[in-house]
Amino acid sequence: MYHSTQTVIHEALKKLNFGDQMYELLKEPLRFLEVRIPVKMDDGTVKVFTGYRSQHNDSVGPTKGGIRFHPEVNEAEVKALSIWMSLKCGITNLPFGGGKGGIICDPREMSGRELECLSRGYVRAISQIVGPCKDIPAPDVYTNSQIMAWMVDEYSHLREFDSPGFITGKPLVLGGSKGRETATAHGVAIVIEEAAKKKGINLKDARVVIQGFGNAGSYLAKFMHDAGAKVVGVSDVLGAITDPNGLDIDYLLDCRDSFGTFSSLFSNTISNKELLELDCDILVPAAISNQITEENAYDIKALIVVEAANGPTTLEATKILNDRGVFLVPDILSNAGGVTVSYFEWVQNNQSYYWTEEEVDNKLKKIMVDSFENVYRISKIHQVDMRLAAYMVGIKKLAEASCFRGWA
Ligand code: NAD
Repeated sequence: MYHSTQTVIHEALKKLNFGDQMYELLKEPLRFLEVRIPVKMDDGTVKVFTGYRSQHNDSVGPTKGGIRFHPEVNEAEVKALSIWMSLKCGITNLPFGGGKGGIICDPREMSGRELECLSRGYVRAISQIVGPCKDIPAPDVYTNSQIMAWMVDEYSHLREFDSPGFITGKPLVLGGSKGRETATAHGVAIVIEEAAKKKGINLKDARVVIQGFGNAGSYLAKFMHDAGAKVVGVSDVLGAITDPNGLDIDYLLDCRDSFGTFSSLFSNTISNKELLELDCDILVPAAISNQITEENAYDIKALIVVEAANGPTTLEATKILNDRGVFLVPDILSNAGGVTVSYFEWVQNNQSYYWTEEEVDNKLKKIMVDSFENVYRISKIHQVDMRLAAYMVGIKKLAEASCFRGWA
């Protein structure tokens, strides 16, 4: 992921006529911190967890990005994810650079008390480099509003004043924003609508397949269902289910647990691999990275692939899909709704003035539609695919800001 990201950044900067000095500056995060967090476990032993925080570039403003709790978190992934956050903020024109954090752990195996100690310990460990005007975290895979609540509480204790702008994705009563919970899925749904228009597909007749049924995937399934589309396949980490006549999404939403798992309740499941190759119009990988590769790119039947997950398609597979005429909308554009409403939350915290859900939704829609149109326009002008076009739009602002600051 990390090297592929650097490759595309290099290409984007060349297309924009920036030289090698700019690539040297932007190819890696400006700051990267590794921390170790001791936690007293319920059985009385002390376990030491490794965590990271990466800050890619703060030339346009503070850095911003989620915190992931997952057994496979690693340095290269966190660095790549922080670069993608920079690109997303550039595409949506938010006044942020990219940040990202992660802890190597499996929250599914931990009690609530252990998770709280880990969350608070992480904030203490990174407190010197984060803050409302420095770097603002948020939820990501296997972290949620409860974890954000423990983190903002710990940070406020450390600073000795209430600091809601330290983190986003908080519960509403602690200064969260209306619409944040569903923001990523909402943004993906808006992008799907725009992509479908370009391809002449009527959403009401469309068959949609979604891999992953967590925060992004499950709410997206609901948005698609409510828009009249048929959701013909969904999956979780254990397996997938399909129904060519359309699945009962409301029932599945009731069944899923807080980690987005539901398939253990069904006997006639298919594999995640089979799910990706189902006959459909729109495929949305909304789980983890590296799902569409050289191995299966030729077998994808969808006409449109919209990446809700970060990095679900390799660069080799991107080329295959593009050559086959599949319209691929890249992650840094399609899942930017999450950071956009996180930005709204931060603005509301800074002003102590809170918006209605309608205001949030309308502002989100405008940003997502404008961002999609801008990337699409650049792809046509420069005759490049949507991924390279998105990188060009995303990196331009950072490069220009860095020039003005005399950094490159
Ligand atoms: P989540 O933890 O809520 O849900 C993840 C889902 O993926 C679950 O259904 C899980 O069972 C499934 N899954 C996990 N491992 C899998 C595997 N190996 N194969 C198939 N399915 C698997 O996570 P989320 O917040 O919905 O995030 C999903 C993706 O979207 C991630 O790539 C994340 O970085 C990206 N994303 C999320 C947000 C957000 O606001 N939630 C914003 C931007 C990007």
